[in-house]
Amino acid sequence: MQPQQVFRAYESTISIEEDVQRTRFCRQCGEPCVSEVVEGGIRSTCTACLAVQYKNPQPAVAVLIVDGGRFVLGKRLSKSLGHGQWCLPCGYVEFYEDYLSAAVREVKEETTLDIRVQSIISVVTNYLSPNIHSLVTVLLAEVIGGELQAADGMEEVAWFPYTGDFPEMAFEADTHIISRYFETDLPGAPVDAAFASS
Ligand SMILES: [Zn+2]
Repeated sequence: MQPQQVFRAYESTISIEEDVQRTRFCRQCGEPCVSEVVEGGIRSTCTACLAVQYKNPQPAVAVLIVDGGRFVLGKRLSKSLGHGQWCLPCGYVEFYEDYLSAAVREVKEETTLDIRVQSIISVVTNYLSPNIHSLVTVLLAEVIGGELQAADGMEEVAWFPYTGDFPEMAFEADTHIISRYFETDLPGAPVDAAFASS
Protein backbone atom coordinates (compact mmCIF):
# COMPACT_ATOMS: atom_id res chain seq x y z
CA MET A 1 0.00 0.00 0.00
CA GLN A 2 1.61 3.21 -1.22
CA PRO A 3 1.69 6.32 0.97
CA GLN A 4 -0.76 9.04 0.01
CA GLN A 5 -0.26 12.40 1.66
CA VAL A 6 -2.22 14.94 -0.40
CA PHE A 7 -6.02 14.88 -0.30
CA ARG A 8 -8.36 17.15 -2.22
CA ALA A 9 -11.98 17.37 -1.08
CA TYR A 10 -13.05 20.08 -3.56
CA GLU A 11 -12.10 21.57 -6.90
CA SER A 12 -11.27 25.25 -6.70
CA THR A 13 -13.48 27.50 -8.83
CA ILE A 14 -11.38 30.64 -8.41
CA SER A 15 -7.78 31.43 -9.29
CA ILE A 16 -5.05 32.26 -6.78
CA GLU A 17 -5.16 35.87 -8.10
CA GLU A 18 -8.87 36.14 -7.34
CA ASP A 19 -8.40 34.58 -3.93
CA VAL A 20 -5.60 37.03 -3.07
CA GLN A 21 -7.85 39.97 -4.03
CA ARG A 22 -10.29 38.90 -1.32
CA THR A 23 -7.84 40.04 1.34
CA ARG A 24 -8.79 43.69 1.06
CA PHE A 25 -7.66 45.02 4.43
CA CYS A 26 -4.44 44.60 6.40
CA ARG A 27 -4.57 42.16 9.30
CA GLN A 28 -2.01 44.26 11.19
CA CYS A 29 -3.24 47.84 10.74
CA GLY A 30 -6.61 47.60 8.98
CA GLU A 31 -5.66 49.79 5.98
CA PRO A 32 -6.47 48.73 2.36
CA CYS A 33 -4.33 46.18 0.54
CA VAL A 34 -3.30 45.75 -3.10
CA SER A 35 -2.26 42.62 -5.00
CA GLU A 36 1.32 42.47 -6.19
CA VAL A 37 4.07 40.01 -6.88
CA VAL A 38 6.16 39.40 -3.77
CA GLU A 39 8.83 36.69 -3.52
CA GLY A 40 7.73 35.14 -6.80
CA GLY A 41 4.03 34.83 -5.91
CA ILE A 42 1.02 37.11 -6.14
CA ARG A 43 0.13 38.32 -2.66
CA SER A 44 -1.91 40.97 -0.92
CA THR A 45 0.20 43.79 0.51
CA CYS A 46 -0.80 46.66 2.81
CA THR A 47 -0.66 50.13 1.22
CA ALA A 48 0.10 51.73 4.61
CA CYS A 49 2.42 49.50 6.65
CA LEU A 50 3.53 47.32 3.67
CA ALA A 51 2.87 44.09 5.56
CA VAL A 52 2.49 41.13 3.21
CA GLN A 53 -0.72 39.20 3.98
CA TYR A 54 0.63 35.66 3.77
CA LYS A 55 -1.99 32.94 3.62
CA ASN A 56 -0.92 29.58 5.02
CA PRO A 57 -2.50 26.20 5.69
CA GLN A 58 -3.52 25.56 9.26
CA PRO A 59 -1.38 23.15 11.29
CA ALA A 60 -3.37 20.35 12.85
CA VAL A 61 -2.93 16.95 14.45
CA ALA A 62 -4.88 13.71 14.03
CA VAL A 63 -4.43 10.79 16.38
CA LEU A 64 -4.74 7.09 15.62
CA ILE A 65 -5.36 5.52 19.03
CA VAL A 66 -4.77 1.80 18.79
CA ASP A 67 -5.39 -1.09 21.16
CA GLY A 68 -4.50 -4.41 19.52
CA GLY A 69 -6.55 -4.63 16.31
CA ARG A 70 -8.96 -1.83 17.15
CA PHE A 71 -8.91 1.96 16.93
CA VAL A 72 -10.94 4.97 18.07
CA LEU A 73 -13.21 7.08 15.85
CA GLY A 74 -15.50 9.96 16.77
CA LYS A 75 -18.74 11.01 15.07
CA ARG A 76 -18.63 14.75 14.45
CA LEU A 77 -21.31 17.09 15.76
CA SER A 78 -23.71 18.39 13.16
CA LYS A 79 -22.44 21.99 13.23
CA SER A 80 -18.85 21.15 12.27
CA LEU A 81 -17.18 20.37 8.93
CA GLY A 82 -17.91 16.74 8.02
CA HIS A 83 -20.93 16.80 10.32
CA GLY A 84 -22.49 13.49 11.28
CA GLN A 85 -19.54 11.58 9.82
CA TRP A 86 -16.68 9.79 11.54
CA CYS A 87 -13.05 10.82 11.95
CA LEU A 88 -9.90 10.28 13.96
CA PRO A 89 -9.67 12.53 17.02
CA CYS A 90 -8.11 15.70 15.64
CA GLY A 91 -7.81 19.46 15.94
CA TYR A 92 -5.74 22.55 15.35
CA VAL A 93 -2.48 23.33 17.10
CA GLU A 94 -2.78 26.51 19.17
CA PHE A 95 -0.22 29.29 18.72
CA TYR A 96 1.42 28.78 22.15
CA GLU A 97 1.31 25.01 22.05
CA ASP A 98 3.59 22.30 20.67
CA TYR A 99 1.94 19.74 18.37
CA LEU A 100 2.36 16.79 20.75
CA SER A 101 0.63 18.65 23.59
CA ALA A 102 -2.09 19.61 21.09
CA ALA A 103 -2.66 15.93 20.30
CA VAL A 104 -2.86 14.96 23.99
CA ARG A 105 -5.25 17.88 24.63
CA GLU A 106 -7.53 17.23 21.64
CA VAL A 107 -7.90 13.55 22.51
CA LYS A 108 -8.72 14.43 26.11
CA GLU A 109 -11.27 17.06 25.01
CA GLU A 110 -13.02 14.85 22.43
CA THR A 111 -12.85 11.40 24.06
CA THR A 112 -11.79 12.01 27.72
CA LEU A 113 -8.98 9.47 27.19
CA ASP A 114 -5.44 10.05 28.42
CA ILE A 115 -2.92 8.97 25.80
CA ARG A 116 0.77 8.60 25.21
CA VAL A 117 1.89 9.50 21.70
CA GLN A 118 4.17 6.78 20.33
CA SER A 119 5.21 7.94 16.87
CA ILE A 120 4.59 10.15 13.86
CA ILE A 121 3.02 7.98 11.16
CA SER A 122 2.33 10.54 8.43
CA VAL A 123 1.99 14.19 7.49
CA VAL A 124 -0.87 15.08 5.15
CA THR A 125 -2.09 18.10 3.22
CA ASN A 126 -5.89 18.37 3.12
CA TYR A 127 -7.57 20.78 0.72
CA LEU A 128 -10.85 20.61 2.64
CA SER A 129 -12.67 23.71 1.39
CA PRO A 130 -11.69 27.01 -0.29
CA ASN A 131 -11.10 28.47 3.17
CA ILE A 132 -9.69 25.47 4.99
CA HIS A 133 -6.42 23.91 3.95
CA SER A 134 -4.83 21.92 6.75
CA LEU A 135 -1.38 20.44 7.25
CA VAL A 136 -1.89 17.50 9.56
CA THR A 137 0.73 15.63 11.55
CA VAL A 138 -0.68 12.17 12.12
CA LEU A 139 0.30 10.47 15.36
CA LEU A 140 0.01 6.94 16.70
CA ALA A 141 -0.97 6.73 20.38
CA GLU A 142 -1.86 4.30 23.15
CA VAL A 143 -4.34 4.79 25.98
CA ILE A 144 -2.81 5.30 29.43
CA GLY A 145 -5.95 6.29 31.35
CA GLY A 146 -9.55 7.48 31.29
CA GLU A 147 -12.78 6.06 29.91
CA LEU A 148 -13.86 6.47 26.30
CA GLN A 149 -16.70 9.02 26.33
CA ALA A 150 -17.97 11.46 23.71
CA ALA A 151 -17.12 15.03 24.68
CA ASP A 152 -16.26 18.32 22.96
CA GLY A 153 -17.31 18.30 19.26
CA MET A 154 -18.25 14.62 19.23
CA GLU A 155 -21.72 13.13 19.13
CA GLU A 156 -20.41 9.62 19.68
CA VAL A 157 -17.04 7.90 20.12
CA ALA A 158 -16.27 4.21 19.76
CA TRP A 159 -13.63 1.54 19.30
CA PHE A 160 -13.74 -0.05 15.83
CA PRO A 161 -12.11 -3.36 14.93
CA TYR A 162 -10.02 -3.02 11.77
CA THR A 163 -11.76 -5.02 9.04
CA GLY A 164 -11.13 -2.81 6.00
CA ASP A 165 -14.70 -1.48 6.24
CA PHE A 166 -15.46 1.94 7.69
CA PRO A 167 -18.49 3.89 8.83
CA GLU A 168 -19.19 7.03 6.79
CA MET A 169 -15.93 8.98 7.12
CA ALA A 170 -15.57 12.78 7.14
CA PHE A 171 -12.04 12.89 5.69
CA GLU A 172 -10.56 10.70 2.97
CA ALA A 173 -7.14 11.01 4.61
CA ASP A 174 -8.32 9.19 7.76
CA THR A 175 -9.45 6.11 5.85
CA HIS A 176 -6.09 5.90 4.10
CA ILE A 177 -4.10 6.47 7.31
CA ILE A 178 -5.95 3.76 9.24
CA SER A 179 -5.79 1.22 6.40
CA ARG A 180 -2.12 1.89 5.82
CA TYR A 181 -1.31 1.49 9.50
CA PHE A 182 -3.05 -1.87 9.81
CA GLU A 183 -1.96 -3.25 6.43
CA THR A 184 1.74 -2.41 6.48
CA ASP A 185 4.55 -2.77 8.98
CA LEU A 186 4.94 0.93 9.08
CA PRO A 187 7.71 2.18 11.34
CA GLY A 188 6.75 5.62 12.61
CA ALA A 189 9.22 8.34 13.49
CA PRO A 190 9.95 8.57 17.22
CA VAL A 191 8.55 11.49 19.21
CA ASP A 192 9.92 13.69 21.99
CA ALA A 193 8.95 11.78 25.16
CA ALA A 194 8.90 14.98 27.24
CA PHE A 195 5.72 16.12 25.42
CA ALA A 196 4.11 12.79 24.45
CA SER A 197 1.67 12.53 27.38
CA SER A 198 0.08 14.83 29.93
ZN1 LIG B 1 -0.99 47.45 7.30
